[in-house]
Amino acid sequence: MNFNLTEEQKAIRETVRKFAQAEVAPRAEELDRTGEFPYDLVKRCAEVGIQGLLFPEELGGTNADVLSWVLAIEELARGDASLAVTIFVGAGAGAVIQQRGTPEMIRDWVLPIIIGEGIGSFAITEPDAGSDNRSIRTTAEIRGDRIVVNGVKSFITNPGTKISKFINTVCALKSDVDNPRDRPFCIVSIPTGTTGYTVSEKYRKMGWRSSDTRECRFDDCVVPLNHMISQPGKGLEEGWGVLNLGRISLAATSVGLAQASLDASLKFARQRVQFGRPIGSFQRVQDMVVEMAVEIEAARLLTLQAAFLWEQDHDVQKEISMAKLYATEAAKKVADLGVQVHGGFGFMDEYAVSRYYRDVRIHTIGDGTSQIQRMIIARTLGLRV
Ligand SMILES: Cc1cc2nc3c(=O)[nH]c(=O)nc-3n(C[C@H](O)[C@H](O)[C@H](O)COP(=O)(O)OP(=O)(O)OC[C@H]3O[C@@H](n4cnc5c(N)ncnc54)[C@H](O)[C@@H]3O)c2cc1C
Repeated sequence: MNFNLTEEQKAIRETVRKFAQAEVAPRAEELDRTGEFPYDLVKRCAEVGIQGLLFPEELGGTNADVLSWVLAIEELARGDASLAVTIFVGAGAGAVIQQRGTPEMIRDWVLPIIIGEGIGSFAITEPDAGSDNRSIRTTAEIRGDRIVVNGVKSFITNPGTKISKFINTVCALKSDVDNPRDRPFCIVSIPTGTTGYTVSEKYRKMGWRSSDTRECRFDDCVVPLNHMISQPGKGLEEGWGVLNLGRISLAATSVGLAQASLDASLKFARQRVQFGRPIGSFQRVQDMVVEMAVEIEAARLLTLQAAFLWEQDHDVQKEISMAKLYATEAAKKVADLGVQVHGGFGFMDEYAVSRYYRDVRIHTIGDGTSQIQRMIIARTLGLRV
C-alpha cells in the first residue's frame, strides 16, 4: 500500500477538516439537543464539494477516488457523526442512481444531491428481516410496464425530510418459487410522493439525533418498470454491493468520531487539575489516552487500506468487513475511554464526549452488525456454518 496521499487527497482532507471544525462541530451539540435536520449544513457540505466527490464531472461532481471519499467522511464525522451519516447515505443512494438510473432520475434526484438540495435512502431492513436479509417480505410485482411494491421497511435513514427524493428499496420479486429464501430479489427506486408510499414520524433515538430515521410503508406503490435498478433476481447481491460503500463510510465515520473524542480528551487532560497537577500528567490517565490514540490509528489504517485496495479493483469484501468491524468496535472503546478521562463531566451533555458515547453505539449495529461482519470475514477465510 502507498502511504503517501496525493496532493489532491491532502487538499480534500484539509478543506473538509477546516469546514467541519469551523461550521459543523460548533453546531453539533445544538442539533443533538433539538434533533432538527440541518438543511443548511447539507447545502454547505455540497458547496465544499463533499457529495460531488462520488459523481462524474459532467454532472458537476469531481469523480474522486474512494480514498478521498473516506478522508472527507472521516473529517466530517470528526465534526458531527450524525451529519456524516446523512451525507454518506444520501449521496451513496444517488451514486447507485447515477450508475443505473434513467436520465430523468439522474436529472431529478442526482443533480439535486450534488448541489445539496436532495438526499436519497437505501432500504433493506424490515421489522422481521434485519441481519437475515433473505427473509424480507416487501414484494415487487411486475405488471406489464409497471412494478407494484408492497411492504414495510424499518430504521431507514433520510426518507422523511423536505429534500428526500427517493428510496432504493430491496424487494422480493413475486414468483412461484416454493422456498421463500430462494426467491429472486430486486432493487426498486421509489420517488418521494408516490401514491401509497408513506413514512412514519421520526424515531426517538439514543444518538445520531439530527439524522432522519423512519419506518417506510409501501401500499400498492406503482412505479415504471425502469425504476428497477438492479438486474432482476440480483437485488440482494447488488444490495450487498451498495452496503460496502455504507460499511467503508461507517468505518470512516467511526475513525472521525473517535478522533474527536481523543481531541477533546487531550484538551481536558491538560486543563483539569487534581492533586495539584493536570490529570494528563498521571500515567493511568496517559494510558487511557494512549490506548485511544493507538486504536484510532489501527482503525484508520484498516479503513484507508480497504479504500486503497477497492480503488485497485481488488475483491475487497474481507478488507471492508475487517475495517467496518475494527473501526466501529475501536470507536466504541475510544468513546467510552473519552468519557472516563472526563470523569463526571463526561456524563454531562454539555461535554461532547457524552454525545460521542451515545452516537457511536449504533456504529457496531448499522450496515451489518459486528457479528455479521465476523460471519462475512469467516466466509472469506473459507469457513462456513
Ligand atoms: C439509526 C439507524 C439507522 C439505520 N439506517 C438504515 C438504513 O438506512 N437502511 C436500512 O436498510 N437499514 C438501516 N438500519 C438498520 C440496521 O442496518 C439494522 O438494525 C442492522 O442490520 C441489524 O438488524 P436488526 O436491528 O434487525 O438486528 P437483528 O438482525 O435482529 O440482530 C439482533 C442481534 O442478533 C445478532 N445476530 C443476528 N443474526 C445472527 C447470526 N446469524 N449470528 C450471530 N449473531 C446474529 C445481531 O448481531 C444482533 O446482535 C438502521 C438502523 C438504525 C438503528
